[in-house]
Amino acid sequence: MLLEEQRKLVIETAQKASLEKLVPLTFGNFSLRDEKTGYVCITPSGMPYGLLVPEDIVVMDVNGNIIEGGRKPSIETPLHTSIYRKRPDVFGIVHTHSTFLTAWSCLEEGMPCITSEAASLAGGNLRTAPFAIQGTEELAEVTSEALGNDKAVLMANHGAIFVGSTIVKAYEVGAILEESAKVAYLAYTLGKPNRISEQIMKALEKTTEENYGQDK
Ligand SMILES: [Zn+2]
Repeated sequence: MLLEEQRKLVIETAQKASLEKLVPLTFGNFSLRDEKTGYVCITPSGMPYGLLVPEDIVVMDVNGNIIEGGRKPSIETPLHTSIYRKRPDVFGIVHTHSTFLTAWSCLEEGMPCITSEAASLAGGNLRTAPFAIQGTEELAEVTSEALGNDKAVLMANHGAIFVGSTIVKAYEVGAILEESAKVAYLAYTLGKPNRISEQIMKALEKTTEENYGQDK
């Protein structure tokens, strides 16, 4: 089997997201790009995450041509492959429908960055990509366009998507931003929270990238 370890990592990430309630039922989708072959391993369409085995993960090239796998891949495959084609720095993608980020995705202006952890991991305010029907080329186009060079973008009235240099990093951005979305909801309910300035956001992101965690 091609890329067995990578397939297992995709399953682990999807199951973690499901346990953390970042995706309801079989919604959301998860993929990684293998550095050596350039192939993408993506979750199948509409299968319960808890039951997935490596054979269920579909291996394809960045144009969506299936290399190995008997399952129908995620309907958001065009979204994942279009991001991989546009972003050579991205090796992992996580798409969730988590509650608080999805609530913010219903606002055209997106989610303001008011927590230092959102700034540290995601680099600032979250934009909302224009609405498009799920699984369409149009959704792939407008979402990858709105993502630009960022680590995350909201998808109008739908959810959010996160990218990273690994699928683990993409997942962490999604998990932290969901917490920040909850805090932002509470803070705006309490009153008028202070916004973090653009300059401070960039400084927080830089210091986290450079100083946080153990030296490699
Ligand atoms: Zn979705």
